[in-house]
Amino acid sequence: MKNTDIIIKNGYIVTINPEMEIIEGGALAVEKGKILAIGATEEIEKNYTSDTIIDASSKIVMPGFINGHTHIAMSFFRGYADDLLLQSWLEDHIWPAEEKFVKAQFVYDSSFYACAELIKNGITMINDMYFYSKETARAATKAGMRAILGECIFDFPMASHTTPESMINYAIEGHEEYKDSDLIDFAMMPHSIYTCSKQNLITASEQARAHNMLIHIHLSEAQKEVDDCLKQYGVRPVQYLDSIGFLGNDVSLAHGVWIDDQEQKLLAKKGVGVNICTECNLKLASGFAPIKGYKENGVMISLATDGVASNNNLSIIDEMDMTAKVHKAINNDPTFLPAEEVVRMVTIDAAKMFNKEDELGSLEVGKKADIILLERNKLENMPMYNVYSHLVYTMHSESVEDVIVNGKVLMQDRKLVEIDEDELFEKAKYYQKELQKTKSD
Ligand SMILES: [Zn+2]
Repeated sequence: MKNTDIIIKNGYIVTINPEMEIIEGGALAVEKGKILAIGATEEIEKNYTSDTIIDASSKIVMPGFINGHTHIAMSFFRGYADDLLLQSWLEDHIWPAEEKFVKAQFVYDSSFYACAELIKNGITMINDMYFYSKETARAATKAGMRAILGECIFDFPMASHTTPESMINYAIEGHEEYKDSDLIDFAMMPHSIYTCSKQNLITASEQARAHNMLIHIHLSEAQKEVDDCLKQYGVRPVQYLDSIGFLGNDVSLAHGVWIDDQEQKLLAKKGVGVNICTECNLKLASGFAPIKGYKENGVMISLATDGVASNNNLSIIDEMDMTAKVHKAINNDPTFLPAEEVVRMVTIDAAKMFNKEDELGSLEVGKKADIILLERNKLENMPMYNVYSHLVYTMHSESVEDVIVNGKVLMQDRKLVEIDEDELFEKAKYYQKELQKTKSD
């Protein structure tokens, strides 16, 4: 009998493995941050024992959700300005507030706050772009959250840096500093094609490839961006990025709302993935991502919340529900985007997009132990005939009870193991007061 770090037993295990196998009354053994064994509870109990045994009798056990595009350091801007046009929302509200508040300590505090919120939403990995991203790395490490992080690169001076060179170097430094981290990866994240010059986009992508870093960028969120690109470069955004050698299977986009058929084919050919932010796009009336076209053309897609300043929550379950429904409606086809496919988008498909399918996205032996448990024994969650439809249409984040990242239990029975929520409330109240003042200025 081998002693292991954690055993989860008697669960309804949704593996998301290539056969999409479901193990009823299943168990998992976790050792050194990885899944050591998976199978029927009797089998696992025959071979393994542990001091930490989690009884998942009434629970769904599945890989943690991946949130493909966030700005977690914007926690305290939640609800700061809503119901506005994108341009005015940014220029008159968010950017001035950021200019005043975004400092290293603010980024750490709000990132740490968001990590707690991510855990409560069953999210075990994020792909995050912001300023002072090393502070976010520090917060994520403390919280035990897995994260791909990037320093937002602009042509003009920002809160954290005065030049794009220094933003690029900062990301490379982060990459070097966290080389041995089990949780943190640094990526290269130019903000967009309208805030980065051609040369800066080229330099950023070349530097990323020289250091073996992933690349992430906002693209074609609003129609205006496409019109401006056509005016300035004579081609649409995807063709523009292709013409400067930017695209590759190390690249993922955020939004991808205004992308035409030819661009979709190019993205598929280059292996570029798109993180779709349905709720944020709905709220800012940016449009509807062409999911049907992406699927037909074989473009990798995943879902994301974007920041809470524009969403205004971090629930990936809400994104699944909303995306499935909106795209059934706009395609006038209730069979479009079945629930099982939507669940794959936020697990294995997202892992593939970030070139991490060997490590994440499913419950299989040898993969990292990023595992969530959801409670079935709730009035609103009974009965259950199809687990995928349950995850997409029935459940809410409040059903997420236990969260394990890299083999460490971060939440148990909906209580954060190492994070004091009362302390976080005090922080939020403090920053609310400070931010409120700027509104009356
Ligand atoms: Zn964004």
